[in-house]
Amino acid sequence: TPSSRVSGITPSGKDGWEVHFEAMTRHQAGEPIIMLSVGDHDFHTPAETVEACVRAVRAGHHHYTQLPGIPRLRAAMAKATSACTGVETSPAQILSTPGGQAALFASALATCDAGDHAIIVAPFYATYPPTFRAAQVDISIVDAHAEDGFQPQAAAIEAAITPRTRAILINTPNNPTGAVYTHETLEGIADVCRRHDLWLISDEVYWTIAGTRRHVSPRSLPGMEERTLVVNSMSKSHGMTGWRIGWLTGPEDFVTMLISLNLVSTYGLPDFISRAAVDALENGHGVADIAERYAKRRTVFLDAIRGMNDVTMRGSEGGMYVMLDVSALEPDCEAFAWALLEAEKVAVMPGGSFGDAAKGHIRISLCQPDEVLREAATRLKRFAGSYK
Ligand code: PLP
Repeated sequence: TPSSRVSGITPSGKDGWEVHFEAMTRHQAGEPIIMLSVGDHDFHTPAETVEACVRAVRAGHHHYTQLPGIPRLRAAMAKATSACTGVETSPAQILSTPGGQAALFASALATCDAGDHAIIVAPFYATYPPTFRAAQVDISIVDAHAEDGFQPQAAAIEAAITPRTRAILINTPNNPTGAVYTHETLEGIADVCRRHDLWLISDEVYWTIAGTRRHVSPRSLPGMEERTLVVNSMSKSHGMTGWRIGWLTGPEDFVTMLISLNLVSTYGLPDFISRAAVDALENGHGVADIAERYAKRRTVFLDAIRGMNDVTMRGSEGGMYVMLDVSALEPDCEAFAWALLEAEKVAVMPGGSFGDAAKGHIRISLCQPDEVLREAATRLKRFAGSYK
C-alpha cells in the first residue's frame, strides 16, 4: 500500500462525481447527452499558439529549461500578473508550473508545514481539499452562502482560525459559483490576513473571464503584496488546458526559495511549450475571444432559462459556470442531477461536489456552443416543469 500521504488523497465532496463519470461513459458510447458537467473548452487552442509551438519544436527547442521558467516566459508571466493584480510584478516574483494545479500544490507546500492548518472557502474547486491533505495540512472549510451571492464573510473565516493556521485559500472569479468577489469582500479577508499574519492564496485562473464584473485581486490591497500568493494559468484564459502551463506569483525572496520545489518535482517546463506560451502571452492569442464567448454564452443561457419555475440563480457573474438553486424542486441536488440525466440527457454537476455550501444547487458549465446551451435550457425547463 502507498504511504498515508498518497492514500489520503481522496477526492473531496466525491458525492456527485459519479453522475459526471456515468454521463461521460454513456456520451462516449454514443448517447446524445449534452455534457454541461465538464470545465474544459469545447474549442481547440488558438491556431497562432499551435503554430508557435510547432515552430519551436522544429527549431530544436527540445532541451532542459531553467527551473523557474525560461527568462522570456517569466517576463511574459510577470506582465500578465501585473495586469491581473494591478501590482507591478517582476520576473523574479514568478515561478512557472505545469498548470494552476501544480501552483496550488506548491503554495500548500510552501506556506504550511505538515500538521499546520489552512482555511478553504467553499464552494471550492474540487481539488483544493485533497491538495492540502497531500501536503499533510489540516483544513477547515468555511462556507460562502448562496444568500450572500456566494461572497465569503470575513467574520466566518476569522472564526475558523487556530494557532496553527498559516493560509487562507480563495478563488475569484469562482469555480463553481461564478461569483466575482467584490472589493469589500476581499478587503474583509485581507484585514483578517493582516491581523493574524496569514498567507492568502488567491486562485485567479479565471480573471480574464470576469463577465460584466471587474476582477479585483487581493494582492492590490494595502499590505497584501508581501503575504499573497497568486495562482494563474493559461488553461482557461488562453484555451490551453492540455498544455499544462501556469504560474505562481509571490514575494521575490519567497519565490526564490520555491524554485527548489521545481528542482525536486518537474525539473522545469518543456522548452517548446514555454516558447508557445510566451507567444500566446505576448500577443494575447485567444484571450479576448474566449472572454467574449463565455460572456455571450452566459447571457444566452440565462435568457433561455428565464421564467423557469422555482429555480433561482445566484453568483453566476463570471468564470465559465452558472449555479442554479434547485432546492425548491428537489432538496437532494445529486438526485436532481441523476434524474435530469435520465429524463433529459443533460449532464450537470451536483453542487455537493464542491462542498456543503453548494448543496441544493447544480453547476452548469458553459463549455458548449450557444445553440447547445439553448437546447439544454429547453430540456432543463421541461424537466423542472415535471416537478409540478
Ligand atoms: N483553479 C480553478 C478554480 C480551476 O477551476 C482549475 C481548473 O478547472 C484550476 C485551478 C486548475 O487548472 P489548470 O491546472 O489546468 O491550470
